[in-house]
Amino acid sequence: MGRFSFSQDLGIDLGTANTLVYIKGKGIVVREPSVVAKNMSTGDIEAVGSDARNMIGRTPGNISVIRPMKDGVIADYDTTAVMMKYYIKQAQMKRSAFARKPNVMVCVPSGITMVEERAVIDATKQAGAKDAFPIAEPFAAAIGAGLPVWEPTGSMIVDIGGGTTEVAVISLGGIVTSRSIRIAGDDMDEAIIQYVRKNYNLMIGERSAESIKMDIGSATTPTENEEMDIRGRDLITGLPQTITITAKEITNSLQDTVEAIVEAVKTTLEKTPPELSADIMDRGIVLSGGGALLKNLDTVLSDETKMPVFVAEEPLDSVAIGTGKSIEYIQHFRSHPNVSTRSRSE
Ligand code: ADP
Ligand code: MG
Repeated sequence: MGRFSFSQDLGIDLGTANTLVYIKGKGIVVREPSVVAKNMSTGDIEAVGSDARNMIGRTPGNISVIRPMKDGVIADYDTTAVMMKYYIKQAQMKRSAFARKPNVMVCVPSGITMVEERAVIDATKQAGAKDAFPIAEPFAAAIGAGLPVWEPTGSMIVDIGGGTTEVAVISLGGIVTSRSIRIAGDDMDEAIIQYVRKNYNLMIGERSAESIKMDIGSATTPTENEEMDIRGRDLITGLPQTITITAKEITNSLQDTVEAIVEAVKTTLEKTPPELSADIMDRGIVLSGGGALLKNLDTVLSDETKMPVFVAEEPLDSVAIGTGKSIEYIQHFRSHPNVSTRSRSE
């Protein structure tokens, strides 16, 4: 290695809810919501990341708060590229004054189409990458969670993000079976909004719904029936209104989403070759992504599958860590472009 050949490479977890940037040797240097605030009359970007997120539901008419990723894929191409460019710059500022164009490893959902994948690669290049390589999200999550992905043993990872839930069984550096559903954390928030609207005629915003989920949401009826005061707009009077809601009610409203996740895990297990199932039985299923933090989700999955279930150490960071770490294996991805991003059966 020559004196100036320091590595510029980055790993980016381009998530529906959060975007993270990882630099080798430094770890995660950017951790921001995937949100951009745009002035629609001038086209200017007003804010990116948490500043933009704080504007959700609070903007004047000419400013739009955009979540450019939806269901794990790009919904707004230009805004995604602008957002990534901003985060790459932010990551490199903390790096070196001689920063050149980096190679970027970027995660994509395993169920993505070629066209959707192409859009992620092109947007990454437009954002300033010299070259961009896709890595399947569950594969990255498994590396980040410390699973032995290169060994001849079955590892099962379930990554629950904002827009997608990715289930995969990995062995020998490849995905053996996988399932990706477009049901995850955002759907839980939406279910809470609908429940409160139907039962209390109260309109609440997505950020309120999310904090209710985080505070008192649970995958199964909690033993302690906590309560929470929530504020919104009364649909009949149009005036602000406060109601008290219980953890039990919220849990009920999350049932459909939880069931869909359980179902995705079960279907994947059914398609798993017996040797690998036996490995998973021994080592357990690992949960990553912010959705893994929903209370009691591990217990419910364990009851339903009769397998041990663990939550990754830093579930929100697993994909970013794995995406960054996999840069070291970039040759593997170059020579086997399909090994890790697509399942062998596809
Ligand atoms: P993505 O990869 O799609 O960007 P993340 O892995 O960053 O998603 O997870 C974001 C999701 O996790 C959001 O839906 C968020 O509401 C949810 N989440 C974060 N913390 C918790 C928590 N404590 N309980 C339940 N859900 C959570
Ligand atoms: Mg994710």
